[in-house]
Amino acid sequence: MKAIYMDHSATTPVDPEVFNAMIPYYTDIYGNASSVHSQGQKAARAVEHGREQVASLIGASPEEIIFTAGGTEADNQAIITFMQHERQKQGKHIITSAIEHHAVLHTCEYLSKQGFKLTVLPVNSVGLVEPDILQAALRPDTALVSIMHANNEIGTIQDIKTLAAISHEAGAVFHTDAVQTTGKIPVNVRDLGVDFLSASSHKLYGPKGIGCLYVKKGVYIGSYMHGGAHERNLRAGTVNVPGVVGFGKAAELAKERLSQNMPHLKDLAQHLTRGILDTIPNSRLTGHPVNRLPGSVSVVFDYVEGESILLMLDSYGIMASSGSACTSGSLDPSHVLLAIGLPHETAHGSLRLTMGKDNSREDVDYVLEKLPLIIKNLRTMSPLGK
Ligand code: PLP
Repeated sequence: MKAIYMDHSATTPVDPEVFNAMIPYYTDIYGNASSVHSQGQKAARAVEHGREQVASLIGASPEEIIFTAGGTEADNQAIITFMQHERQKQGKHIITSAIEHHAVLHTCEYLSKQGFKLTVLPVNSVGLVEPDILQAALRPDTALVSIMHANNEIGTIQDIKTLAAISHEAGAVFHTDAVQTTGKIPVNVRDLGVDFLSASSHKLYGPKGIGCLYVKKGVYIGSYMHGGAHERNLRAGTVNVPGVVGFGKAAELAKERLSQNMPHLKDLAQHLTRGILDTIPNSRLTGHPVNRLPGSVSVVFDYVEGESILLMLDSYGIMASSGSACTSGSLDPSHVLLAIGLPHETAHGSLRLTMGKDNSREDVDYVLEKLPLIIKNLRTMSPLGK
């Protein structure tokens, strides 16, 4: 049976070149990067090389990178430690958007329970935070604005440069969760004008469990984990050397391949989107029609359940995902789809197909052969479809 993986926004396979680069750091150079002996020093040098590779991908200086255990930790560290520090000053207010990943949204909600003030901005029907709305929400006590670079469900890419500039004018610092964009579109911290940026290795063909937080030189950041003096006292815990080496290699490859991968993924997404919308009645693209992640197709179908579509696709070897929180056992529709104004019933019928560098036109054609039939069959079974 075919196996067609179209869930790259959830995670990507580790590139063979990345895997090969990591192996020696499990088998030969396994020393602790904090050790003074020669093996430890070799490991420490590999970590610094990885830091340079990651920094180079996002246009940062190596000393502005803190390695974390992933995107979630980077989001938590930026938001929590910065706000705790601000508590001693005037800053008590945080602004975020309604379509953030839970790593940001739940972190902000946690701080709100600790007494910080929180504003969650609405987005428009294509998932954009409108600059005027941000402008109106900023207050003298706003310390931090956190808005994601691109959304993981609907693929919309925000105008971060404008949003960061507006926040700075009001005296707030700006954090962006760039977990979905780093390595997939050009990401440059200076061009974007951000103070903090979170990234994660497993979204760009690197290993899981490693990510980073970019902190602009001169901006306050605190340690979220308490323990040893690793990462210049900013992230306690033995450094994941093979992880850093893999993340670094993945970043280097992403930079080299960006100009080749982007048009390929845009072409696949265009072909798939057109095919779906042309052949399946009552289907609609969600998110921005143009400013979206290359390779990301998110659609909703009336009168069907996203989970049923996933199971049927899986039976044909196609791996995709849906906006509903099916994994948590709850059938609540996605907060992102509700935030762009979809009614509950429609939001339940969502499907996200996120392609990667190794997907081909044949893969897309295979999906286009199976999906219309799946939707048709599910609609015949559904009381609403009839
Ligand atoms: N932020 C966004 C936008 C994501 O898509 C994800 C992962 O799905 C995360 C944060 C969490 O990253 P990690 O899995 O590295 O903790």
